Amino acid sequence: DIPKNKFVVVTGLSGSGKSSLAFDTVFVEGNRRYVEGMSSFARSFLDIAAKPDVDSIENLSPPISIDQKSVIRSPRSTVGTLTEIYDYLRILFANFGESHCPKCNALMNKKSNKDILLEIKKMPPKTMLVIMAPYGKKDKNIIETINQIGQLGYARVRVGEKIMTIPEASNFILNNEVGGEADIVIDRVILDSKDKDEERIMDSIETAMKVGGGSLRLMLDNKEIISYNRDFVCEKCQIKIKEITPRHFSFNNPEGACDECSGLGLKMKISSELVIPNKKLSLAEGAIKPWGSVGGRNGNSGQGMQLLAALSKKLRFSLNVPVNKIPPKKLEIILYGDENYDFGGVIGLMEEKYKSTKSDHTRSEIEKYMVSEICPVCEGKRLKREFLSVLLNGKSIDEWVNMDIDSLAAYLENSKSGQNQNKIIGALTKEIGGRLQILQKVGLGYLSLSRGTQTISGGEAQRIRLATQIKSKLTGIIYVLDEPSIGLHSRDNKRLIETIKSLRDRDNSLIVVEHDRDFIKNSDWVIDMGKGAGEEGGEVIFSGTVERLL
Ligand SMILES: [Zn+2]
Ligand SMILES: [Zn+2]
Repeated sequence: DIPKNKFVVVTGLSGSGKSSLAFDTVFVEGNRRYVEGMSSFARSFLDIAAKPDVDSIENLSPPISIDQKSVIRSPRSTVGTLTEIYDYLRILFANFGESHCPKCNALMNKKSNKDILLEIKKMPPKTMLVIMAPYGKKDKNIIETINQIGQLGYARVRVGEKIMTIPEASNFILNNEVGGEADIVIDRVILDSKDKDEERIMDSIETAMKVGGGSLRLMLDNKEIISYNRDFVCEKCQIKIKEITPRHFSFNNPEGACDECSGLGLKMKISSELVIPNKKLSLAEGAIKPWGSVGGRNGNSGQGMQLLAALSKKLRFSLNVPVNKIPPKKLEIILYGDENYDFGGVIGLMEEKYKSTKSDHTRSEIEKYMVSEICPVCEGKRLKREFLSVLLNGKSIDEWVNMDIDSLAAYLENSKSGQNQNKIIGALTKEIGGRLQILQKVGLGYLSLSRGTQTISGGEAQRIRLATQIKSKLTGIIYVLDEPSIGLHSRDNKRLIETIKSLRDRDNSLIVVEHDRDFIKNSDWVIDMGKGAGEEGGEVIFSGTVERLL
């Protein structure tokens, strides 16, 4: 009998059938019963496990198996996405991050028409206000710009820092060097202390935004100029970011993912070391290894050699000397090509073929010569530059997720006390902080959220799943764990045991396959499986409390 709502450790030598007891028997039986309790409609969507070979197991709760293999491992998932912490960070950054120009780092602001009206209302009475719409482009012809403005029916423009009529402007630009931009004067208002003109000002703001294509300028008392934008804009670099939403911080969404590596942070690249592994061979002796295999049979290698022979005459190198005797600059052209010599390069041609071929065989042949390297565009950060330059507390989302979980938790705690807290930020950071804490409890504080799930160990994967279970606050569940202590330090062992006990205290049953003494000592019930592997195994030789075992 395995007691319910207890912390049960199944121990025994390997091959004694302890994993089989825990996983196959309890898990499969529990799952079957749980499923049988569901409606036939729901059941039809599940793959029902075969009934295990035991007489009877009574009173089973729905089981959740947390073994070391069942974590999704893909280059597109990280500790952050798996634990959903990254989703909360995306919301936080989209709503409260400060956008910076990806080129010059200047802060980018955006304002709604209402925001602008509010700012105007705060200005002192009797302020002389000119509402203007920027028009034309720097590199365009100013004569054309002024003519167009005249045709639109506006009477005044601001050119070269001065406001003038259209005829004055036409005259001015003949004698002065100015760029192709001009501000159209939409309205001129002297602010009244009683806000009488609010409706008129709002109308003018709307018109200016429309004519200015999302930008507006105010001139105050004929001197100060303030620019406003509907989108995030850097006027200096002419860079505009339309919108920033949580999607844009996801490397699994094309809107946010780096275009070069499509969000993987890594790029496959043909390696010259692999293409010419033996530099003591000459080109004529077959130094270029892939030409022996890729398309070798259909004569492509012959074609390649013909191209090289033609190049050798123009570029003046010998096909018969060892490759390491060819000057580096010439070897560079041989590998990567040069338009002046009308040659695509050995590697250049392979890359072209890799992109154009429809044959899986050819593609995998070429992949043998590829190595993956950190994406040169995003530097492994997976996102487009404009979203990496959104900063929260002066750090990008990439910098946040690259901290280890211990540091990130401390950082979050510090930044919380510093700010005058916004309610939503408070709720989000609380959610994130809670999840980080659970990861620390299961001994994963040394991992970073950016860590790819393909590179974590089985024990780490299991503890991440355990952490997500703790968060779910379910009760009446049987958790089956397979040696969760693997790879843990003894200090973290204690925390993990505490965590397991807290799950038990929430009326869950825990069946843990473990050899670790600390686990056995702390358990409520121990099952020792028979010594001797194979045929003799599979027998329960002890089942009872720890006190009775000792
Ligand atoms: Zn800029
Ligand atoms: Zn990239």
